[in-house]
Amino acid sequence: MRSLTRLEWRDEWVGARPADVALDALGRFCAACERRLPQAAIAWHAVRQEPIDGRLTAADWAETIPLCHNCAAAATRSEADLETVLLPYRDLTFLLGDDSPLRYERGDGDGDGDGDAGGRVMVIAGGGRGQETVAYFALNEHIPALGSEFPFEPDADRLTRDWVDPRMSLRTRAWDAAGTAAAQLRTAPREHHAAVLDLASMLADETGFWSTWATVLWREMGDREVLERVLQPQAAGPAATLSPEAAVPHAFPATRPGWMPPTEPAGA
Ligand SMILES: [Zn+2]
Repeated sequence: MRSLTRLEWRDEWVGARPADVALDALGRFCAACERRLPQAAIAWHAVRQEPIDGRLTAADWAETIPLCHNCAAAATRSEADLETVLLPYRDLTFLLGDDSPLRYERGDGDGDGDGDAGGRVMVIAGGGRGQETVAYFALNEHIPALGSEFPFEPDADRLTRDWVDPRMSLRTRAWDAAGTAAAQLRTAPREHHAAVLDLASMLADETGFWSTWATVLWREMGDREVLERVLQPQAAGPAATLSPEAAVPHAFPATRPGWMPPTEPAGA
């Protein structure tokens, strides 16, 4: 869950669809699970804990994030104390290193239960607030489209539970894509390096799961320049100080700086 920097409210957003504003200003990714979002996203008021219908106001904008329907459904049914939940525009939610409130790890695939999920990539909490956040958005929930029975009891809340929850599978595919990109970057001839970097950045944009990409690229390469080029291109810069017209479109708008480790990794 990358931390976000919010653009200042703009009067021309009055009358726009709230979801369009959220996606344009904060990136076309779910602010909780980080999956790529299509045109359909939910503009979620994180404090009222409900979608914003109708018009967006400046006051509401301060608490609005784009969510996918799985994350919104999880938040809807959660009874967590919102004060303990990490929100990406309010809190530091991810940085590279052991101090991160949320980290990403691949299970070993032996299927031994909660801490594994069949080799899929888990969100690992670094503390109590991280645990609350994972639970609130059900970030390690996995309900495949095929091949399993629906885990519903007759009285289960079917309105707020989803029949299919692909987030862990998508996160795991992003992990694999990032690993492939790292392998290509390591072996590409020098004259092709820039082109492979561009392709990696485009692939990350298409798959989403920014924090997963950051985790894998850092682990595999330990190269700050590669991470900046792929995940926070220069154009991203201090987006809040740029007008949208002046900002150069890039893969991960609104990504808050400060996620890089202060020094080179041990052994790199
Ligand atoms: Zn989501």
